[in-house]
Amino acid sequence: MADRSLYDFSRLYGNEAIKAALIRAAETGRVAHAYLLEGVGGSGKTTLAFLFSAALCCESDDAKPCMRCPSCRKILRAQSPDLCTLGLDALPFADAEDGAETAPAKARSIGVDAVRLLKSDVYIRPNDLDRKLYIIGHAERMTVQAQNALLKILEEPPEGAVFFLLCENRAALLPTVLSRVQRLTMESFPDETLFSLLCTHDREAASLARREEETLRLFVRLADGAFGRASAYVHAQKKALRDDLSYDAHEGAAQLLDQLFSDLGSDDSPLLSGTAEHPRPTRTGLLASLSGRIDPKKDGAEARERLRALIDALCAAIRDLTMCAQGAGGQLLFYPTRTQPETLAARCSARTLSDTFRALTALRAELAANPNVGMLQMTLSGILIGLRI
Ligand SMILES: [Zn+2]
Repeated sequence: MADRSLYDFSRLYGNEAIKAALIRAAETGRVAHAYLLEGVGGSGKTTLAFLFSAALCCESDDAKPCMRCPSCRKILRAQSPDLCTLGLDALPFADAEDGAETAPAKARSIGVDAVRLLKSDVYIRPNDLDRKLYIIGHAERMTVQAQNALLKILEEPPEGAVFFLLCENRAALLPTVLSRVQRLTMESFPDETLFSLLCTHDREAASLARREEETLRLFVRLADGAFGRASAYVHAQKKALRDDLSYDAHEGAAQLLDQLFSDLGSDDSPLLSGTAEHPRPTRTGLLASLSGRIDPKKDGAEARERLRALIDALCAAIRDLTMCAQGAGGQLLFYPTRTQPETLAARCSARTLSDTFRALTALRAELAANPNVGMLQMTLSGILIGLRI
């Protein structure tokens, strides 16, 4: 018992190093005045910020946060005047029955006025909790002005106030801001670890694994090592995936697949492959459409992100085709109805579908290491044309 910590962050899976660092800080009273939690969406940044905030103010003498004492409850529902949140998508521990406000629509940017409001609040002493707490989601959406306003606060932090800046990529933050915060990077789980975490902790994921293991594996691959994202795919399936697959990626994938099968006509009136009006698709033709859609020269750093989203959309489409080819039930992720994927699936062998899926996921992994988007597009067009061989 003696060496057991009073603090317990086991509600957040993995991330043992970060949890240990925060527990040490809480135990020794050396809590930083600002933390930057960096990680992809669904990696647990918001969960951790709320758990740590609650732990710092928890009234229990047992495991902190107890999740039940008045302080914990108010913090977890974001219902204390001493806790300010900005730019959060959702509150991880509030459910509908709490009557907690649902998160406001995502703001594209966090402006200087919002940060000035924080500034007017930050030097007022807490009157409800032991501390003043500030949780800023999507910190990378802060304008430069907003970041500079925040910097002024971070340079003279009021006693006992703790800021949590949550971001996907710290590159968008000013170096001066970064120098004032303690940076913590959320763990990205390897696919196998994420798969077993989901099967252990998420009942619906476990059930999906029994019914359609491949679908759960697809969700894992698309989740970038983030438990929350994979779990959202499991629970909201099509909706969550569509929300993540931008319109641009969805439309791009649909167009490429249309082009790929354009010479085949419909089931009712099959065309002879490669008429003058509908020439047989070529790798060069696909590549031309791809680079027309994503131009590595023009789109710069964004080109890689957009290509990743396009590959994700194609993975989801190929997964649907595979399910249709196998005559399997279950929800489709990419196509709105079964008509089109069933027609297309009839024209691909199960073997080429699974080869294509594997090649797409390998290409997706390569995207992280290879910055040459033009080269990756060439590989992608080759993978797609393989569906027609
Ligand atoms: Zn408590």
